[in-house]
Amino acid sequence: GPLIFGHQDPDVRAAVESALGRGWSYGATEAGSLELAEWITSRVRGVEQLRFVNSGTEAVMSALRVARAATGRARILKFDGCYHGHADSMLVRAGSGLAEMTKPDSAGVTEHLAADTLVAPLDDDEAVRRIFEAHGSSIAAVIIEPLPANYGLLPQRDAFLNSLVTMARKHGSLVIFDEVISGFRVALGGMAERLRIEPDLVTYGKVIGGGFPVGAYGGRRDLMELVAPVGPVYQAGTLSANPVAIAAGLTTLRKLEAHPPYAALERRTQETAQAIVKLAAGRSAAPVRVQAVGSLFWIVLDDDTQRSAPLRSIAAIPPGHRTRFASLFHALLERGVYLAPSGFEVGFFSTAHTDADVEQFLAAFDGALAAAHRQ
Ligand code: PLP
Repeated sequence: GPLIFGHQDPDVRAAVESALGRGWSYGATEAGSLELAEWITSRVRGVEQLRFVNSGTEAVMSALRVARAATGRARILKFDGCYHGHADSMLVRAGSGLAEMTKPDSAGVTEHLAADTLVAPLDDDEAVRRIFEAHGSSIAAVIIEPLPANYGLLPQRDAFLNSLVTMARKHGSLVIFDEVISGFRVALGGMAERLRIEPDLVTYGKVIGGGFPVGAYGGRRDLMELVAPVGPVYQAGTLSANPVAIAAGLTTLRKLEAHPPYAALERRTQETAQAIVKLAAGRSAAPVRVQAVGSLFWIVLDDDTQRSAPLRSIAAIPPGHRTRFASLFHALLERGVYLAPSGFEVGFFSTAHTDADVEQFLAAFDGALAAAHRQ
């Protein structure tokens, strides 16, 4: 995910080596981080100020703190199927059907912490409306991956995202777009640009550091000015905006602007997705679906041939997918292709992938289908 130009991109490598030659920890803002911040604030609408941290988790944790400080409210609404890093309050899942019955999703997270997080299903306008009507006045913010990519790839309807924003605004809650995956990957301005929605706060990770540890949160100036030392929200980090990592990020983003890879990556991803589906049909294998947006793809081993609409929520994922994906994963591995091992992780194309890589992948995929057929 972070490596949109692949491993060992020569420009990123040269920038990192040059940064190393200057030093690697100053404990003060240096030119590179200022440049990266200015680069982003001058190009991404709605990001008027931003603060660097070391990971997506830290970015989310800090953005939530700002939202709570700005609104004086405690609760956060998140969505089942979205991942926002491992801050305690985000390791929470829906309980028995009701948003208010949330449960810790990790050992070590207390019920008390989980209680301030509400959880809604994706793609469900009615559930969002119910939750805001019942709890709107205590919700500081709603946080969502505008392109959910941590429980498979579950693209949301524009209308759903727009009505979520409208609902939040109506109730005085802030909107946080978690663009840790989608930021700079689906467009320079991430999903916010594609959707033409301006969230109040946004979180970044992955591509922003070009494969090195950089995260950031940013947004409206009045909100970001709540952060210390200007404002009362404490947040700091000894190693934040590390100059070597920042050099990798700045070079990556500049290169994305100078040679935008987005259209070519999207074409390759779509063509590969179509080829996968065709191979499965040709082998009369059980139907395979590939959901793809930008350079992200998710192979779904689908057991419902009738459905044509994209899968948009956890409930829509075919029950047989998990075990069938495990078999596919091992069959591909035996043929030299290593996908992410969970059937709920997405794949990413980078500019380093070649036609030959895609051919090798498709040949392995076909071989795996043939082997499954013989069993
Ligand atoms: N938010 C999203 C959408 C993510 O996908 C991730 C990580 O995958 C995170 C936050 C957490 O980022 P990190 O792993 O850098 O802490």
